[in-house]
Amino acid sequence: MNLHEYQARALLKAAGIPVPDGEVATAPNEVEAIAKRLGGAVVVKAQVHTGGRGKAGGVKLAKTAAEAKRHGAAILGMQIKGLTVEKVLVAPAAEIASESYVGVIVDRASQRPVMMVSPAGGVDIEEVAAKTPEKIFKAPIDPRYGLLPHQAMELAFELYDDVKQVRQAATIMQQLYQAFRDAGASLAEINPLITTPDGEVVALDAKIGVDDNELERRPDVAALRDTSAEDPSEVEAREMGLSYIPLDGNVGCCVNGAGLAMATMDLVKYYGGEPANFLDIGGSSSPEKVVTALKIITADPKVKSILFNIFGGITRCDDVANGIVTATKGAKLDRPIVIRLTGTNEELAVNVLTKAGFEALTDMDEAVQQAVKLAREAA
Ligand code: GDP
Ligand code: MN
Repeated sequence: MNLHEYQARALLKAAGIPVPDGEVATAPNEVEAIAKRLGGAVVVKAQVHTGGRGKAGGVKLAKTAAEAKRHGAAILGMQIKGLTVEKVLVAPAAEIASESYVGVIVDRASQRPVMMVSPAGGVDIEEVAAKTPEKIFKAPIDPRYGLLPHQAMELAFELYDDVKQVRQAATIMQQLYQAFRDAGASLAEINPLITTPDGEVVALDAKIGVDDNELERRPDVAALRDTSAEDPSEVEAREMGLSYIPLDGNVGCCVNGAGLAMATMDLVKYYGGEPANFLDIGGSSSPEKVVTALKIITADPKVKSILFNIFGGITRCDDVANGIVTATKGAKLDRPIVIRLTGTNEELAVNVLTKAGFEALTDMDEAVQQAVKLAREAA
C-alpha cells in the first residue's frame, strides 16, 4: 500500500524529522485560503501515488495566494502517469541550497533493510543508480539493532562537509529508519532532503510504501489507505479476498492457490507466452469470487486470452464452473478462454461447462499451450 506524500510527511514529522507544515486541499478556493493562512510563498503539490510529479508539472511554487489558487486549479484534476490528481498539498515554499537523497528499502540480496543516500538528490534516483552508481552510498541495517550511530554518521559525511549538517542528517536517518520500521514499510524515502541557505537540513518530499502483510497489526497505518487513488481492479480484488498482481503480458490467468499460480505463470513463459497477471482465487470456493476474477481479468485491455487453471481440493471445480457460467451469462466473452480443471467435483464441473458451450480440459500443459497460442493469434 502506498501513502500520499502528506501522510508520509506526517509520519516523518512524528518521528522528529524537520518537515515544513502543510495542509491538504481539494479545491482551488481551499488552496487560496491555506496559502493566505500560511502567508508568504507556498508550494502546491499534486498528491498521487507516483514520483516524478515535479517533471510532470504537478509541483508549482507561488508567490501570492492568488497565484497558488491558479496553480491549484491547474493541478487538481490533472493526470500524472495515468492517475488523476484529487488532492494537493499546500506548504510554505522552502529556499533550497542543496538537494540530497536519503532512503531505506528492503534489500532482497542482503535480506535486510538498507539505508541509501546520495548527494545527487532531487532527481530520479533510479537514473543516478544507473548512470553514476558511485554517487550512491549504502549501509546494511541489522534489524536487531537498527541503524547504528556510526553508520548514520558515515553516510552523512558523504552528503555534507559541515559537521552540524552531518549531525542533523545522521539523526534524520535514524529517525527515518524508525518511521520505516514503525509503519511496516518496504520503502521510505526523502528526495530531496535539502539544506536551506541558513544551513538547516529539511525533508521536502516523503514517500512511504507499506508492506500489505504488516497492515493487520497496524490499524492506524491501514486507516491511511486511499482507495480513490488506487487501481480499481486491485481494490476490487482485495475486497473479494483475491490476490491479484497485474503484469505486462497478454495471457490472463485465473488460478487457485499461490503455488499453482506461480507454476502456471512459469509454464506460460515456458511455452513462449507472457502472463498478464498473477491471480489467486484462494483455497475456499465460491462462484462470486470467480465472477469477480473474470471481471478483473477482462477489464485489462492487454489480455488477449484467458486461462483458468484449477486444481480442485478444498476448492470445488463445480463452484468455479458455475462462476464462469454466471459471469458470462449476460454478455458473451469477447476473448477466447481456456479452462483446465481437475479434482474435486470435476465431473459436475465438466457437465456445467459443456452445457453452457465451454470446453473443459484436464491437462495443464495442453491448456497452457492453447492459451499462449490463442493470445499470440489475437495479438
Ligand atoms: P517529485 O517530483 O514527485 O519527487 O516531487 P518533489 O516533492 O520532490 O518536488 C520536485 C522538485 O520540486 C524538488 O526536487 C524541488 O527541486 C522542487 N521543490 C519542491 N518543493 C519545493 C520548495 O518548497 N521550494 C523550492 N524552491 N523548490 C521545491
Ligand atoms: Mn521527490
